[in-house]
Amino acid sequence: MTRAGFLNAALIAAVCLNCMPYVSKDRRGKLVKVAIECGVDQVNISGVNGNKYYNNHRITQAGNFPMHFGPRDGKVTVNGHDYRGNLEVRKIDGTLWVINVLDFESYLKGVVPCEIGGISERQLEAAKAQAVAARTYARAHIGQYAELGFDLYATVQDQVYKGIPCERILTNKAVESTAGEVLFYRNQPIEAKYHSTCGGRTADFSDAWSGTSPTYLRSVICRYCTESPHYEWQKTMTRDNFFGHIRNRLNRINIILERGELIHSFRITRNKRSHRIKELILKTNKSEYKIPNYRIRTLFGEPGDPGGLLKSNYVYVNMKSDEVVIRGRGFGHGVGMCQFGALEMANKGKNYRHILYHYYRGTRIRKLR
Ligand SMILES: [Zn+2]
Repeated sequence: MTRAGFLNAALIAAVCLNCMPYVSKDRRGKLVKVAIECGVDQVNISGVNGNKYYNNHRITQAGNFPMHFGPRDGKVTVNGHDYRGNLEVRKIDGTLWVINVLDFESYLKGVVPCEIGGISERQLEAAKAQAVAARTYARAHIGQYAELGFDLYATVQDQVYKGIPCERILTNKAVESTAGEVLFYRNQPIEAKYHSTCGGRTADFSDAWSGTSPTYLRSVICRYCTESPHYEWQKTMTRDNFFGHIRNRLNRINIILERGELIHSFRITRNKRSHRIKELILKTNKSEYKIPNYRIRTLFGEPGDPGGLLKSNYVYVNMKSDEVVIRGRGFGHGVGMCQFGALEMANKGKNYRHILYHYYRGTRIRKLR
């Protein structure tokens, strides 16, 4: 047995004595499991297992899993980053996954500042709106990756969570002053989508994802994000580059053009409420392809764009004789709360309830215990 293997076996023996005391049978109301390291070969962890404190202990794939670590002085550490709560290290498909198990409110303290950025005292109400939206999102997504043993990724795939180093006094205050508050629609926590900048009006849910839009995720006018650097933007390409680019990106949305198949033209239909692209109909010399709205950002995105996606699908494409001008608005999927809008609403004296009810129409805040 390698030294690491021996140590890991010792850890498991201690864990069995401990029997995971922190995992409640009724976890849904109290704890959330967040994947903070995904598919790695090794990880360094500081935390308590049994009666022993392990300091920057290297874990490799050779151990027995899952392993559990509790906090010392209120924190556990993963690769030098401090987190509240406990850790669970699992082996999934031959790689290590580190899951932070902690209460909802502690989790939110590590989410809100990452998601809304730095705020001033005047913008506290926007941070409170963000706290309620993020709490609602987390509540609605508990159990979504149950087969992998966690609830949420710590990235934009769900919500960005960076633990204790990310926390700020003002955003902690926003979380504490809204503790337990969740947005409901018809007795269910809502799908609380939010984004950076809507560009003047938010999107319908169906502009960004397949499926129908819930009533509370329909487009509303937003007059508050005009100061965002993403409010309006523009891209220009030569015609050849534009069509060459589309041709290259079609395989990302599972359309493969045949040899000799050339793009002739395209036509765009729009969602009248949100002004987003509803459908792009691409004509070639051999066929016609209908590309739905939620594929547009992938189709037009370039390697330099965040995530390889066009900043938004609130775009107008102007074909000129030798160039193509794409005029766009906003940044992100555009659905739900506009974060730049929320910050400006707070600047203008609106409270967090007013902000949330503006972007999520027909919802109500409930306080969960
Ligand atoms: Zn906006």
